[in-house]
Amino acid sequence: MKPLIAGNWKMNGLSSSVQEVEKLVGLLSGSAPDDRDILICPPATLIGLFATEFGDEGLAIGGQDCHAMPSGAHTGDISAEMLADAGAAFVIVGHSERRADHGESDALVRAKAQAAQRAGLTPIICVGETQAQRKAGREKEIVGAQLEGSIPAGEGDYVVAYEPVWAIGTGLTPTAKDIADMHSFIRSKIREGVRILYGGSVKPSNAKEILAIAHVHGALVGGASLKAEDFAAIIQAAQ
Ligand code: PEP
Repeated sequence: MKPLIAGNWKMNGLSSSVQEVEKLVGLLSGSAPDDRDILICPPATLIGLFATEFGDEGLAIGGQDCHAMPSGAHTGDISAEMLADAGAAFVIVGHSERRADHGESDALVRAKAQAAQRAGLTPIICVGETQAQRKAGREKEIVGAQLEGSIPAGEGDYVVAYEPVWAIGTGLTPTAKDIADMHSFIRSKIREGVRILYGGSVKPSNAKEILAIAHVHGALVGGASLKAEDFAAIIQAAQ
């Protein structure tokens, strides 16, 4: 499967960040390698600009969240159709920060993933256990329930990102064996052909090892995607 290396910029980035992406494109020798998919999910304010600037450089642009409805009285929200109209091809749904900060349930995440598919976007559906859940040996129960509750029925395209909550932004990562074990569990729960990304403190120093693990088809990268040198090194580590 073609690896997907996705950068989640979270609430970071201004119009001047175009220069960082220009630097990334330069480090990738002028255009993104076509044997891997490269995605940047900047804040919604930058989607149109990045799609215009980098659409021809082989970089896909995505949103970090969407509303389930196509339009309506939902102040401050952005629909999947709006993201697509701005030039997005993907959207992250159910990131643990949204599940925690905005109380997003599996049912809501599934509705958002369906909205993404309706609008022609590929949803990246995030799942992952907390540290307490892993310590209690409940990680597969938790991830299994999230997959069951968050993935839309039907044949629509989607990507799963396994992101242990305790590994996000902490510098901690599960062992290669634990990643392999969880990805093989996820593989057994979803249909063939769907990519499963690993996310949680991926950086240049661990990317090669993580991306070589069976059933890891790419990475969702937070902090390290903000720096062109680091993100380029992670992209280059993909096999
Ligand atoms: C993320 O937020 O999706 C993430 C994986 O963050 P980081 O790489 O910074 O741990």
